[in-house]
Amino acid sequence: MLQSPLRVMFLREIFLNWLDFITRGYILSRQKISSEGVAQMSTLGIDWDTYDRDHIREHAFHEAGHAVVEFLLGRARGHLVHISMRGDHAVAARVRRERCMDVMFLHQLRGPIADDQHAFARAMAVREAVQCFAGPAAEWEATGDPDDHWFSHLCKAADYEENSDFDDALLFARKVTNSEGKAWLLLRRIAAWTDELLSLPRVWKTVESLANSLHHGIEMPGAVACEIMERAWGGDHRLPIFTLGRKWRRRML
Ligand SMILES: [Zn+2]
Repeated sequence: MLQSPLRVMFLREIFLNWLDFITRGYILSRQKISSEGVAQMSTLGIDWDTYDRDHIREHAFHEAGHAVVEFLLGRARGHLVHISMRGDHAVAARVRRERCMDVMFLHQLRGPIADDQHAFARAMAVREAVQCFAGPAAEWEATGDPDDHWFSHLCKAADYEENSDFDDALLFARKVTNSEGKAWLLLRRIAAWTDELLSLPRVWKTVESLANSLHHGIEMPGAVACEIMERAWGGDHRLPIFTLGRKWRRRML
């Protein structure tokens, strides 16, 4: 087992999040860095209120997809600030979460990764990219064309406009690979894993439950979202990701 300072930090965060999960009170940090947007459109002339109402189901599943990954990793209690279904001219809805150690680490990562830290860094990239992809994937699963696939649409959309879900996932994949080909290979693999994760009945039930509570115009506090997800998930006090089997621990932890 790798015993680098980074791993110690990581295990500490996992432990604190687990502690938070069972005690429901621990707050890791209050600094906000991330806002995930959907339907990023800056076109003039859109009646946003009407647009948001017409697309509320898409937005709700999209944001619920992001939030449920935080929940599975045991980070929702500590990280989730709120889910806002109040659109503005930049985004239609957003999950706002606290500063995340994985994201900080990945953004600061420069150059080749030491051999003994590679698996650790790669798991971080996988966690964050799954978190990015779970939004569009959940949205597509609930409202998209079943004969088509969200990943190809996301790639096309990112070609002509900024899309943080795609851009961040690609950035993280690039950080932990040494060629563009390998980065894309990892990205496609993560897209498939995201689909697999969302197809697990207990995970999808949690996504649906949260999405069905996200109505137009509300700003749901993170604690409320956590309660809804915990209720839908049901059962024990184990960290959800630990209940999904060894395969998921190997991929994401
Ligand atoms: Zn998103």
